[in-house]
Amino acid sequence: MQTEFDRYKKEADFVAFKTIHERTRDFGVRDGKPDSLSEFDDQGLLIEVMRNGHMGYSATCETTPEGIKQAFAQAIAMTDASSKYPVFKFDKQIRPGSKGKYQTETKKSLDSLSLAAVYDYLKKTSLALKTSDQIISTSSDAMIITCKQKYLSSAGADFEQSFDIVINSMSATAQKGSETQTRSLHGGRGNCRQVGAEHFQLDSALRECDSISREAIELLSAENCPSETCDLILAPDQMLLQIHESIGHPLELDRILGDERNFAGWSFVQPQDFGTLKYGSPLMNIVFDPTVSDELASYGFDEIGNPAQRKYLIQNGILKAGLGSLESQMRSGLSGVANARSSSWNRAPIDRMANINLEGGDLTLDEMISKVENGVIMFSNKSWSIDDYRRKFQFGCEYGKKIENGKLTKTLKNPNYRGVTVPFWNNLVGLTKPDSVETYGSPYCGKGEPSQIIRVGHSSPYALFKNIEVFGGG
Ligand SMILES: [Zn+2]
Repeated sequence: MQTEFDRYKKEADFVAFKTIHERTRDFGVRDGKPDSLSEFDDQGLLIEVMRNGHMGYSATCETTPEGIKQAFAQAIAMTDASSKYPVFKFDKQIRPGSKGKYQTETKKSLDSLSLAAVYDYLKKTSLALKTSDQIISTSSDAMIITCKQKYLSSAGADFEQSFDIVINSMSATAQKGSETQTRSLHGGRGNCRQVGAEHFQLDSALRECDSISREAIELLSAENCPSETCDLILAPDQMLLQIHESIGHPLELDRILGDERNFAGWSFVQPQDFGTLKYGSPLMNIVFDPTVSDELASYGFDEIGNPAQRKYLIQNGILKAGLGSLESQMRSGLSGVANARSSSWNRAPIDRMANINLEGGDLTLDEMISKVENGVIMFSNKSWSIDDYRRKFQFGCEYGKKIENGKLTKTLKNPNYRGVTVPFWNNLVGLTKPDSVETYGSPYCGKGEPSQIIRVGHSSPYALFKNIEVFGGG
């Protein structure tokens, strides 16, 4: 790539070449039997150019001299044509000349995993989920991804990043008469981490299978969640989506600027809210942190060369910074983060979440439960809905427990709750300690036109909210 890059690097005010090579192996086992296997090998080149303060892009999987020549000419034609109608005139500060290397920390390479070894793990876990005849269906899936990026720019940037990722989920569905209930590993998203082959620990997975299966059966004879306004404790595997939808998306600066209103939506957050809006109670501390070693969306640099740094988005409940790349920061004049990311080589980077994490508090889970006179605890996201402005939301979970006079009592099926973003987070009255924080993620965050699906990470303790509307489902 260096030779080709050198050929074009002086042909515009700024030129960058980024290559991405991603290999995905996707395995599925249903009821102990192999169900699916797919393997993708995807690689290509994104060319970025700047002329007259305007960016242009083109991408190609034909990385031959002729293919690159054509793609470069298209990028130039795009920036020349679109720079006649500029939204904003940028300068070269939006593309730093960063150098370095990032690699996922692993104990054992993912390439060392054979097809047979992964199927054996999935088959054993799928069979272990069937603890009774009431379990009518089980599934165990794994997606194993290795991704390599290289970026060169005329600003002097020269960095490489290498990511090793495992997304591992499993679920069991139980049935009695007309009642059907599904329980899964941390909701449908399962475990999503940057990790090596050491992820596949059968002993711990079999223990998880046992509790998933037993809870699915337990739900068959559980009472429906009551409809009332009461205290609500959310487990970290529901908090991941609460954080994602009601903090992550509304804080994207390109959304606040209106870029996404046609597709993903707008935001209730206004530019003047930064530094002043009391987004939540003083317990609420939200960090953007792509520097955590094993979380799903960790990296050394975002995809335009901005070095990854941990930063508070919300501190002691006050909104401090948005999820905006160097481009959105320059356009809006607001504080942002290193979050220009793309889903692949054939998409331009836009403002995305990376790891958005809620910091822990000072309670044990037992202490938190003991503070609740009347409430519900909910685990594992099942469904979600939120409006285009990220204001009013409704979430459903897989499994609940009633809390009465400081103690967990009966199991509840179909637990749901609803709220409005800012009042909800201002009702946050307790968090469990940092050592209780659990880390999850999602490989399926969608945004952008044309559409881009990317991977995000979220970590959270258990969280206690006051006066929340909970209700059961059908
Ligand atoms: Zn999303």
